[in-house]
Amino acid sequence: MEPVFIKLSCPSCKEKNTVKIEKNRLSCTQEKCDFSASFCCPVCDSLLDGVTYFQDELGEYFDCHDCKNKVHIKRVKHLIDNKLSVDPQVRCEYCQGPTVYRQEANMSHRCFFFQNARAKRVFFQVGSVNP
Ligand SMILES: [Zn+2]
Ligand SMILES: [Zn+2]
Ligand SMILES: [Zn+2]
Repeated sequence: MEPVFIKLSCPSCKEKNTVKIEKNRLSCTQEKCDFSASFCCPVCDSLLDGVTYFQDELGEYFDCHDCKNKVHIKRVKHLIDNKLSVDPQVRCEYCQGPTVYRQEANMSHRCFFFQNARAKRVFFQVGSVNP
């Protein structure tokens, strides 16, 4: 399966497009660089030791043992690339999922699962009105 690379430069060697996400680990692919870090569940901050990884049409994902959310590795990449934080306290009004926000940009909360939950809902409503 294709590795997922984050957009931000490596915190250690400062090279761009060299840090990949593999399961819950970030590591730099530069030979001389040994940057490596692991991350916790972006929704509830639980350790991800022992979680099982699955694959679907959006790529690799895991089911968190604690918050029971399905988290795609590409979603984690999106959070890192856009410096977003997850706020499990504020729920999406459309799907009741957790929301993300950007601390310094004063950005309003957005749905964690759907880039545009509102558009999605309209789509579902239109679909369900069909005779
Ligand atoms: Zn590096
Ligand atoms: Zn979790
Ligand atoms: Zn939502």
